[in-house]
Amino acid sequence: MNPSLYARHEASFTLAPLTGKARAQIVVIGAGLTGLSAALHLAEAGRDVVVLDAHEPGWGASGRNGGQINPGLKTTPDQVLEDFGPERGAVLARRAWAAPDLVFDLISRHNIACDAVRSGTIRAATVASQMSALSSLAIQCTALGNEAELLTQEEISQRSGTAFYHGGMIDRRGGQLDPLAYTRGLALAAIKAGAKLHDRSAVSTLRRDGAGWSVVTPHGSIQAQQVILATNGYSGPVHDRLRRSIVPVFSAIAASAPLPPPWRARILAQRESLYELGEITTYYRIDAAGRLLMGGRSASRNLEGPEAFPYLIARARRLWPGLDKLEWEAGWNGQLALTLDHYPHLHQPEPGLLACVGYNGRGVAMATLMGQNLAELVQGGEALFPETPIKPIPFHFGWKAGVVAGIAKGRINDRLGL
Ligand SMILES: Cc1cc2nc3c(=O)[nH]c(=O)nc-3n(C[C@H](O)[C@H](O)[C@H](O)COP(=O)(O)OP(=O)(O)OC[C@H]3O[C@@H](n4cnc5c(N)ncnc54)[C@H](O)[C@@H]3O)c2cc1C
Repeated sequence: MNPSLYARHEASFTLAPLTGKARAQIVVIGAGLTGLSAALHLAEAGRDVVVLDAHEPGWGASGRNGGQINPGLKTTPDQVLEDFGPERGAVLARRAWAAPDLVFDLISRHNIACDAVRSGTIRAATVASQMSALSSLAIQCTALGNEAELLTQEEISQRSGTAFYHGGMIDRRGGQLDPLAYTRGLALAAIKAGAKLHDRSAVSTLRRDGAGWSVVTPHGSIQAQQVILATNGYSGPVHDRLRRSIVPVFSAIAASAPLPPPWRARILAQRESLYELGEITTYYRIDAAGRLLMGGRSASRNLEGPEAFPYLIARARRLWPGLDKLEWEAGWNGQLALTLDHYPHLHQPEPGLLACVGYNGRGVAMATLMGQNLAELVQGGEALFPETPIKPIPFHFGWKAGVVAGIAKGRINDRLGL
């Protein structure tokens, strides 16, 4: 079961596990935003596509995330140009910073009821020294066509209802949504476009079979010409090198009861998404029911219930001291994929096998975009990111200890404003 608050609503469709033997042009492994966006775009292009998920559509990070539709990548547009060169870098920056357009377009084209609002994404400066970088970022985003604007200390405190921040930047291309409803909406759109979806169908073996692939689940198997691995933070032994090429960190959300009206008017009244700058960040938004959803770091194991994340609740009380009586309804966590260079990684380790992982916490828009790009690639289109060899991270078995050390270092850096 998806442990999030979003799963209180049932899916409007039912699926069945894969049974028996089948054939398909393309098999997608993983029914999150990457896999479903790929499947939808492929099915719309007339391809015969089957999606398999070990659990159900949206069980992974896609159906339990913070719901923030953030434009762009973890780095800046200028850094993208430097890292990928003027031609590829320009295309990549333009599409990555416009990725929310794709999300809102899919929502409107497929009538997906997911409480989506284009209310903007705010980056909040927790130390004064972050403002010069934000000022440069606002110029770069504006050059890409995003409506980006710096917020003074007064403006951000008016929007956020706390005097904690030194200023910020709002990018009006961003917004927020209910991520499980959005993911399920893409699943339904893919089904309507002709894709076949199977839940409870964990792929146990993926092997070369002649010119194609054999994909095996507990009760069935499919012969496919092409396979897309879309397992991100839940990548497992099906492709062990891919699993070891990312750090599958946990992130957590605590959700309050609906805020009383005066607080509703005070904290992010336009329902903007806000995330704090720094290495160990907190992110939050107000959902359609008026709940405060606080997100942030998590211990590296599955946890459930608001009491599992007391530090997120403490953070809310520090930001808004009057909120100490507020009740907290739910808490959950999930795994996302970090990469060492902070970019998504696109791989084609063998002909007919594609994978994309590593949205570094910005997957609502980017996974949707990369799913679309995987579909383009299957049809002979251009790759947004260069296709790189899969590089397992040395000493990957120690990733949990590495995350703990990284958080400690990040906290110190954040305090020092580095
Ligand atoms: C708590 C949390 C908060 C976040 N907040 C935000 C946010 O506010 N904004 C943002 O942009 N991003 C956010 N992210 C990141 C974002 O959710 C992810 O980057 C994105 O959802 C990744 O999508 P995906 O489809 O690649 O992977 P996932 O959604 O994780 O899907 C992977 C799927 O693969 C399936 N799978 C794995 N192995 C197999 C197998 N062997 N056989 C079949 N199926 C398999 C799993 O069951 C799963 O459904 C957050 C993530 C978390 C965990």
